[in-house]
Amino acid sequence: MAHTHILRSSRVRLDATVAVWVPVAVSGGVTLIVAVASLAQDNLSWHDIVGIALLIAAATLAEAFPVPIEGVAVGSTSLATIFLVAGATIYGWAAAAVAGFLAMALVELAWRRPFSRAAFNCGVYVLAAAGAGGVADRFQDGTLLGLSLGAIAAAGTFYVVNIALLAAVVTRSRGIAYGSTLTNYAQLTFVPFTVMASLAVILVVLWDRSPFVAVVLVGPLLATALYQRWIHGALNRLREFDRLKDEFIAIVSHELRTPLTSVYGAAMTLEKQQLDDDRQHQLLEIISTEAARLSHLLDDILWVSRLDSGSARPYITPVEPLPLTEEVVDAARTHLPGGLSVEILHDSPLPEVAADPDRLRQVLVNLIENAVKYSREGRVQVRLGSHYGTVRFSVRDEGPGIPLSQQERIFEKFYRLDPNMTKGVGGTGLGLYICRELVDAMNGDIWVESAPGAGSTFSFELPVAQAP
Ligand code: ADP
Repeated sequence: MAHTHILRSSRVRLDATVAVWVPVAVSGGVTLIVAVASLAQDNLSWHDIVGIALLIAAATLAEAFPVPIEGVAVGSTSLATIFLVAGATIYGWAAAAVAGFLAMALVELAWRRPFSRAAFNCGVYVLAAAGAGGVADRFQDGTLLGLSLGAIAAAGTFYVVNIALLAAVVTRSRGIAYGSTLTNYAQLTFVPFTVMASLAVILVVLWDRSPFVAVVLVGPLLATALYQRWIHGALNRLREFDRLKDEFIAIVSHELRTPLTSVYGAAMTLEKQQLDDDRQHQLLEIISTEAARLSHLLDDILWVSRLDSGSARPYITPVEPLPLTEEVVDAARTHLPGGLSVEILHDSPLPEVAADPDRLRQVLVNLIENAVKYSREGRVQVRLGSHYGTVRFSVRDEGPGIPLSQQERIFEKFYRLDPNMTKGVGGTGLGLYICRELVDAMNGDIWVESAPGAGSTFSFELPVAQAP
């Protein structure tokens, strides 16, 4: 009875499965009509009506918040079946069929699932619940044992109908063998099934005593469901983290290999051959540039890991923005490509900002280096201005620009524009991510304004330092 929502998975295409979902939906519909007619003829007491309504409400809630069960790879499992099986044992097949339909239909309607999927899922619940009620009835002899056995048999029936129909629709849509799919699902869902079968028996026995006493089950059920959802979320986050780490290792190894190969090649040539001074000089330059690139890359990686582990807390203090920016710009000017100039424009006076001077320097170096690296020629303007309680730093270049659709993404870890757009300029895609994290940590904002062919302006704002 572990109702496994294979149909939540988008991999299952119901259009390929008309031969299964239509018969299931139609027989479910017919069963439902007969059930409603039979209920209408029964003289239900108000007591029964309240009981059935309670079970329907519980089943609907449970259906709306399915519990993912770790290791059950086919999706999440709904505890609704506990209430449907209990309903089937206590109130009979017709009430259970109606309850199954309502619980599933309400949830499918709320989630706006496609008609075929909703009709199939409702059909499965109606048939499984009606079957469970029919079987449970055979054991009822007014004794506690009969009631318990009835609940166990009902749970088993619900489970068998459920996974048999689900396996049918999955085999259809994926074109795989029915027998092996069924065994596979049975193995995956058997343990959750036994847990839910026992819970159903407990619920039935308690309910038989008094529906009010049965309410004590709500606590443990809710706790189990919430705990499972929490565990599942935590595991998913770990998996995602693991995937990012793999991706990180792949990119880093690739990025390390390129400069290392150049350094190694240049060193080998220097060692083995008689070379004139010019050539030697060229090779030594390659070695130093590539070694600098390696150290830059390693720095970035260290920063990312520090930021990710939360150990890079900035030390905030009042900082004079202009002298610090002038220092950075002077340093950048020492190795500018010909045809490119960097200038500073600023309001005066400028208030002090609340920042960590080292981190602020790091952000500026990164933005100015990017402006130089990606534009190669023209003017780079660094502007400082005060803006409503903040100081805005902007670095403007006349480079290739960045399409609007990419302007958010370039701040993501490892994200780089298409090499065609950046004319093959090397990098790791970590610089802007580090800038954003550092500016965030200093309570600021960072953004870019740009258009292809029209240059880019990267700006960030930091709060003005409070007067002591
Ligand atoms: P990296 O420069 O190492 O690739 P960044 O995180 O600093 O990594 O930048 C991410 C991407 O944003 C770069 O690959 C580049 O495509 C784009 N980019 C950054 N700065 C500029 C700029 N000034 N002009 C054009 N594109 C830029």
